[in-house]
Amino acid sequence: MFGQMMQMPLLISSLIVHAERHHGDQEVVSRRVEGDIHRTTYRQIARRSRQVAQALATLGVSPGDRVATLAWNGYRHMELYFGVSGSGAVLHTLNPRLHPDQVTYIADHAEDQVLFFDMTFWPLIQAVAGRTKTIRHWVAMTDRAHMPPADQAAKVGGLLCYEELVEAQDGRYEWPRFDENTASSLCYTSGTTGNPKGVLYSHRSTLLHTLSAALPDCLGVSAADVVLPVVPMFHVNSWGIVYIAPMTGAKLVLPGAGLDGKSLYDLFESEGVTISAGVPTVWQGLLAYVDANGLKFSTMRKSAIGGSACPPAMIRKLLDEYGVYVIHAWGMTEMSPIGTAAAFKSQHVHQTPEQRLAVMSTQGRAVFGVDMKIVGTNGAELPWDGKEAGDLHVRGPWIMARYFKNEGGDPLQDDWFPTGDVAKISPEGYMIITDRSKDVIKSGGEWIGSIDLENIAMAHPAVAMAACIAAKHPKWDERPLLVVMKKPGAEVTRDELVAFYEGKIAKWWTPDDVVFVDAIPLGATGKMQKIKLREQFRDHKLPTA
Ligand code: AMP
Repeated sequence: MFGQMMQMPLLISSLIVHAERHHGDQEVVSRRVEGDIHRTTYRQIARRSRQVAQALATLGVSPGDRVATLAWNGYRHMELYFGVSGSGAVLHTLNPRLHPDQVTYIADHAEDQVLFFDMTFWPLIQAVAGRTKTIRHWVAMTDRAHMPPADQAAKVGGLLCYEELVEAQDGRYEWPRFDENTASSLCYTSGTTGNPKGVLYSHRSTLLHTLSAALPDCLGVSAADVVLPVVPMFHVNSWGIVYIAPMTGAKLVLPGAGLDGKSLYDLFESEGVTISAGVPTVWQGLLAYVDANGLKFSTMRKSAIGGSACPPAMIRKLLDEYGVYVIHAWGMTEMSPIGTAAAFKSQHVHQTPEQRLAVMSTQGRAVFGVDMKIVGTNGAELPWDGKEAGDLHVRGPWIMARYFKNEGGDPLQDDWFPTGDVAKISPEGYMIITDRSKDVIKSGGEWIGSIDLENIAMAHPAVAMAACIAAKHPKWDERPLLVVMKKPGAEVTRDELVAFYEGKIAKWWTPDDVVFVDAIPLGATGKMQKIKLREQFRDHKLPTA
């Protein structure tokens, strides 16, 4: 027997329809590439999203066609999120931090038809325009006054002006109704090895992710909040925040290209931001700025931090010195992205600050919709004892089943997705990533988790950033080598750092050596590129060798 409830497909357009009808006056504030602060509302965004959908039809975009963006977090990008997906086409958010060769490869692989871009990326557009195979129209996301000079524009065939394109439409458009399993958006993985691979989300997977990610133990967003996603809309849909805000009716603040400490701080304060989200490196920049200027946050109360391990020292500092509660979260492009978040359970409420910090420092427990397990080298599931580490596998309705165009074949193992992360899980269900499986240090057949070692180094007052990599050792195969970037003006020696590990970990985990670098290479999504460091220090002679 079937239930007798209405059949309403879970579609992305429903989010902006809801926001328009129930939170129409709520603000969306953007720092524009034109340099000013722009204010709009969900009502206006909804209308302009419909105009975008109409404009796409005039450009010959059909359902299922890929429409690409190269853009910062801003209201026009948001209009494309709803206009493109809502019309049945697929929004393909390209990462502008990639090399032009990679952008070209990805745009060709996705068979993008139209590309919308912020003017910041005009040089990148000029570099790729003559090379991509399928893009028919290039749309500058600006008004006529800010379009590229005519001589440059002439070299990019089919260049259009976003504001003219949108304003030419009347907005009288009904969002189409289609199967909720229809593809909605496409995002390519960072691809540290091999070519990037596409992850194709559906309307259903996106809506379910949005509902779960907004829950109190995850991002916990309400209509009384002001949310500023630092995490870019070009990286896994800004962790779903551009969908969560209209669903909940929260005010949304979009920082554009201003991701430095001062620009972010100014926006937090002037707009009364209560919740933010970003990778640890962003918070490092922000904290350096507020520390140096003796500032405090007057409204900020919570930030989701993830994308790479958030050092406990940062969690402690944000809470103790700034009253900002960190939700440490873990996920990946293949997971839309959120899998776990480190929120308390009732038994933690009255624990000591140290015990609570230990909970907050884990990568968290599974949000409803995601199941996880750890498996050993023989494929058997390992116990949740907080000690044994194994390969982390996940499954759920917003976790990828295969890559776009089946690149790389069937990735699943017994219907679970192997994440490539190595983790342990506590008896209470909190997961702790010890490493990326490619980054694990194998010393005498035993694994040493590099993230633990980095977290300890990051607690040293002179350390700005630390990466721990495997260095060759004649007896143990590999031993940990700590690569450190010091804070400006700070001093610390190799021996002091090695001594800093005493009593904090098993003695045999202590790094064999420390090297200092001016900068640790970061990838296009702000993660440390250990692969580059391993190349750089391939011939490093350990003093213990
Ligand atoms: P991406 O698909 O580019 O978002 O990268 C996903 C990968 O980032 C994961 O598989 C993890 O290796 C890493 N990652 C994400 N969040 C965390 C976290 N909180 N702690 C440690 N690693 C993380």
